[in-house]
Amino acid sequence: KLHNTILELKGNIRVFCRVRPLLSDESRSTEGKIFSYPTSMEASGRGIDLSQNGQKHSFTFDKVFIQDVSQEEIFVEVSQLVQSALDGYKVCIFAYGQTGSGKTYTMMGKPGHPDEKGLIPRSLEQIFQTKQSQQPQGWKYEMQVSMLEIYNETIRDLLSTNRSSSYDATRLENGTPGKQYTIKHDANGNTQVSDLTVVDVHSAKEVAFLLNQAANSRSVGKTQMNEQSSRSHFVFTLRIYGVNESTDQQVQGVLNLIDLAGSERLSKSGSTGDRLKETQAINKSLSSLSDVIFALAKKEDHVPFRNSKLTYLLQPCLGGDSKTLMFVNISPDPSSVGESLCSLRFASRVN
Ligand code: ADP
Ligand code: MG
Repeated sequence: KLHNTILELKGNIRVFCRVRPLLSDESRSTEGKIFSYPTSMEASGRGIDLSQNGQKHSFTFDKVFIQDVSQEEIFVEVSQLVQSALDGYKVCIFAYGQTGSGKTYTMMGKPGHPDEKGLIPRSLEQIFQTKQSQQPQGWKYEMQVSMLEIYNETIRDLLSTNRSSSYDATRLENGTPGKQYTIKHDANGNTQVSDLTVVDVHSAKEVAFLLNQAANSRSVGKTQMNEQSSRSHFVFTLRIYGVNESTDQQVQGVLNLIDLAGSERLSKSGSTGDRLKETQAINKSLSSLSDVIFALAKKEDHVPFRNSKLTYLLQPCLGGDSKTLMFVNISPDPSSVGESLCSLRFASRVN
């Protein structure tokens, strides 16, 4: 049976499904093959079937990318959306999926393999190229970057030069209160996070440097806090202020690129104690995200933005005439079939 998908409700929300290739240490037996792509839909590349215990589950998305689709080919499908941030739109692109499904690969790419760079570096290159090419028409842009992590409903500044004090909102450092990172939205739909580092940037290279700094800051957390990076949401935000000097036209766009926490369920991770609480917090924030996106897609009057830090932070960039794209990243490994089904259901909102 064909599941009802969010795309039928649509609006400015798109869902792309990406199945990564098998990695060299994963099973390659043909009997382990759990995915097929319905022939009737193959032409449009929108359908995907998953077989579990002899039962076939069919899903449809705005696009389905399988296995050997390259980073470049993926970016072709996304570049217009990125471009719209320069035209003054608020854009969010999410990567959702279990740990190991390819979220970070999709967003950042493979370290040390420039031809496999992901969405974030490609978007920045495009944006700074456009910035230059539009100068003759009178357009001038100013850009600002911030990067944060949300872990257990706590915000952490990844660009703070003072690492220890950026750690969390509640901790006290030498008797001085920890940073608060309070989220505020003004009447113009601009978001301010108190105490968060915001950096003016002028080139893709500068942003690459900051991304590197953020990655280092995350990996410090990783050893201290139980592989925090797969348990936290990474939020990259680029603010774009454009003014046309000959026409006085002004635009303000935002590009949010979000590598979500791993979506794995309680059963498999076998969590207890703190880890259990952490997993519950992750599942709660991911289901809040799904609630918000679903409510927006259905154009419901009440959208529960305040149920999680992530949705509250992104509120102005999710509603109104903003644009949202969700990548559902899927592992083809037969041992992940249960999680893959959960992810596909999450994205088509039937669970
Ligand atoms: P996640 O961030 O969801 O935990 P990763 O992005 O780290 O997952 O991917 C897990 C592994 O799979 C990494 O070694 C990554 O390089 C590899 N990988 C993921 N997606 C692809 C892809 N489309 N092509 C090739 N390798 C991939
Ligand atoms: Mg990752």
